[in-house]
Amino acid sequence: MPEKKHSKVIIIGSGPAGFTAAVYAARANLNPLLFEGSQPGGQLTITTDVENYPGFPDGILGPEMMDKFRKQAQRFGTECIFKEVTKVDLSGSPFKLEADEDAYTADSLIIATGASARLLDLPNRDKYMGYGVSACATCDGFFFKEQEVAVVGGGDSAMEEATFLTKFAKRVTVIHRRDELRASKIMQDRAFKNPKIEFIWDSTVVDVDGEQKNGHAALTKVKIKNLKTGEITEKPFTGLFFAIGHIPNTGILKDWLDMDENGYVITQPKSTKTNIPGVFACGDAQDSYYRQAVTAAGTGCMAAIDAERFLESQE
Ligand code: NAP
Repeated sequence: MPEKKHSKVIIIGSGPAGFTAAVYAARANLNPLLFEGSQPGGQLTITTDVENYPGFPDGILGPEMMDKFRKQAQRFGTECIFKEVTKVDLSGSPFKLEADEDAYTADSLIIATGASARLLDLPNRDKYMGYGVSACATCDGFFFKEQEVAVVGGGDSAMEEATFLTKFAKRVTVIHRRDELRASKIMQDRAFKNPKIEFIWDSTVVDVDGEQKNGHAALTKVKIKNLKTGEITEKPFTGLFFAIGHIPNTGILKDWLDMDENGYVITQPKSTKTNIPGVFACGDAQDSYYRQAVTAAGTGCMAAIDAERFLESQE
């Protein structure tokens, strides 16, 4: 490996968890190195307005918020590296990492690699992402007051998101690829009883379309294919929410860290400690339940404090 750089703390991931860990580690004089990964700023860079992060009473755009997180981390001496870590070796101290062609070592490691919402692969999807198409009803539901929206999926998340969206939308249509739901009985019952929720069974979304409105794209049509008959219909939804699961970005760690059956890193209760001393995990990489920017930031802070105490104990 051509380059070898050693740090007391390396943080992998640049969402709210990673940058919050960086702010705390940097202010503890640990000079952290932070790898931004393939999506600098993380999942919030694909949302528009963030209105539920405390401290921003008028809301803030997701990408702008992540720029502020980055600046705050850099202000105290975090070094941000715009590379993706492709390999780790956690067999002993110092921990070894590879990014591009370079090698790095660290006395402690903070995993903040996040998760990615599973999305359907639609030809026009990216054009309407954040402009009608979303993977987070909690973040974006508020913008769909009195509108016709659809949710794709048949699990607990889809039922939860559909139920949540009925607070705003005129009607919510769940589009599911089978004729029975995967969701738990209680979540199903709640959705079936809700007069604002309808179902389209045995169907999947094959594309989206829309128009230009106020200078940006706006979703107006969703193409749905019945998987039993092959028939394609077009529905006038102005919102489309994917709720077909999340995938934690923990692939490079699977040989080293204890994970649950879905690939989320397991941390000890009330801490960010993993099964390897000196390796800490925070944010959506270890949380499949809350998945909010503010909760990710909270566990990022915990990880930095845990790393600082670990390093102190080693001295
Ligand atoms: P999930 O249980 O894995 O369900 C994903 C759903 O998306 C399934 O209905 C699946 O269809 C569908 N799907 C997956 N890939 C698809 C594709 N390519 N095209 C169309 N549909 C597709 O995921 P989840 O609902 O996000 O839940 C994850 C975990 O969190 C679960 O353990 C769940 O119980 C838990 N959770 C709990 C709560 C709660 O208790 N309040 C809330 C949310 C989540 P099939 O059914 O056909 O496979």
